[in-house]
Amino acid sequence: MTQERMKKYVNCPVCGKLLMKCIGQCNVDIICSKCNSNIAVFVDEEGFRIQENRNGNVIGKKAG
Ligand SMILES: [Zn+2]
Repeated sequence: MTQERMKKYVNCPVCGKLLMKCIGQCNVDIICSKCNSNIAVFVDEEGFRIQENRNGNVIGKKAG
């Protein structure tokens, strides 16, 4: 049983709030409920990367 070791806690890189728990692999975009930062999270067996999307882009906005 190694499932517990796969569990990762993802914190907001801006304010440090706990955003989510992740088991195994995940690739999600999440909005921090505290500071409203748009955070992109990539998790795999090796570790995880957390990026703040601060390009001023709006999710779901499409031209045309
Ligand atoms: Zn935050």
